[in-house]
Amino acid sequence: MSSLIYLDNQATTRCDPRVLERMLPYFSEHYGNAASTTHSAGWMAQAAVNLAREQVAASIGGLAGEVFFCSGATEANNLALRGAASAYSQRGKHLVVAATEHASVLDCARDLQRVGWELSIVPVSEEGLITREDLRAALRDTTTVVSIMLANNETGVIADIVSLAASVRERCSAAVFHCDAVAGLGKIPIDVGALGVDVLTISAHKIHGPKGVGALWRRSRPRLVLEPQIVGGGHERGLRSGTLPVPLLVGFGRACEIASSERLEESARLGALRDRLLAGLQTAVGGIEVNGSTESRISSNLNIAIEGVSADSLVSSVRDIAMSTGSACSSAVAKPSHVLAAMMSAERAHTSIRLGLGRFTTEEDVETTITRIGAAASAERGT
Ligand code: PMP
Repeated sequence: MSSLIYLDNQATTRCDPRVLERMLPYFSEHYGNAASTTHSAGWMAQAAVNLAREQVAASIGGLAGEVFFCSGATEANNLALRGAASAYSQRGKHLVVAATEHASVLDCARDLQRVGWELSIVPVSEEGLITREDLRAALRDTTTVVSIMLANNETGVIADIVSLAASVRERCSAAVFHCDAVAGLGKIPIDVGALGVDVLTISAHKIHGPKGVGALWRRSRPRLVLEPQIVGGGHERGLRSGTLPVPLLVGFGRACEIASSERLEESARLGALRDRLLAGLQTAVGGIEVNGSTESRISSNLNIAIEGVSADSLVSSVRDIAMSTGSACSSAVAKPSHVLAAMMSAERAHTSIRLGLGRFTTEEDVETTITRIGAAASAERGT
């Protein structure tokens, strides 16, 4: 990977060496099961899990007891939607999600539709934003679950969750409001109380932590009920059974700690690099438009349409720069991603690339990217 310039940090990130260092002893000498209560190996593992829970909770302004660990955001989203739907179906069987949600939310919603739930999908503007009016129009007396993401993983557009959650509370006070905050964690401040959400999803591998671990935060006051989706030994206070992956949790906790303490500095640095990347590409190629709001977005993501240049051809001619033509989860499919499709014409979507900057992106990476994409795009256009 050494010659690869990695600009796909919205798909996943390199594990920070400081995170890895913390994890390693938990693969070797401290290998106890956190559920073992009869010996010191178990106590050691339990202490590490407790610390990780505190660190993760602190990064989102929650309480440690409100954090439930699981295998990642896909599972957390499934647990939130399916768990709330089965716990509260007697209130009404209407579910509301935004058109640009991650597949793990949209596919859950469609599954619920197949078992009798009514589903409303809220559209987004050309800028990828959800208006209060559009959300309100989707709400009904029977609305029981609403899921809207904090930041979009393809465009980086940030939703006004405070105002959207307040709209839901005004109209449907008993509805459960879930927020997938994966693409916002470490990029913008997250405070579950201030956001006014009931359940919130995060994942470690988008913040330079390990893959295969995430968490669902669940409000405790007043207590919200979720029906467990994986049952067994009763781990995670009965909400999610399965032996805890102690090394991954240690890494998740440390990654959250670093992300919180370095967020301001990192966002400013990445925002400046992102702006340089855009300006450089404008000069080198021209005909570039930013996809999504340029005001309400995270600083490390650049999703652009390059007029007259096929994104697929560009990506295959610039193999030494890792970038994406959609989200990593859907880029095996040739049609435009559902996120871009909700915002623009298919023609423009086919000329769109996503460049995701991260903690290890350098100025040199950005300059090389400008030169390489500039040359490939000009060649493609025949200019
Ligand atoms: N939600 C969003 C917004 C994401 O970007 C992703 C990862 N692509 C997920 C959920 C799923 O996360 P995980 O890989 O941890 O299952």
